[in-house]
Amino acid sequence: MKKNHGPSFRRELKPLMVCGTCRGATVTPGVFHQIDCFKCNASGWVCAETGEALPVEVMVQQLSMRLRNVTAELSRSRLSIGGAHEQYEQNNRLGPGGSNYTGD
Ligand SMILES: [Zn+2]
Repeated sequence: MKKNHGPSFRRELKPLMVCGTCRGATVTPGVFHQIDCFKCNASGWVCAETGEALPVEVMVQQLSMRLRNVTAELSRSRLSIGGAHEQYEQNNRLGPGGSNYTGD
């Protein structure tokens, strides 16, 4: 039996929102060049509950989990699009192709 005490190290998906300072761009316009956004640690995201940036190591995990979810979602939708597309082409082959000869 393994005991797990102490603070939660479980990776939980925290609610994030786009940083209001840089609007997700990760940089803010400076006088001569763009500056890393100080508000969100140049991640483009802040915690939706506090409005503050998460520590970089936490943010990396959060973004990684989201990226995995989005990537899985994308490949699922690609599969279904591909399937529908193939069906469509199969149906098309059964469509026109007969001659217009009526025999009259
Ligand atoms: Zn920002």
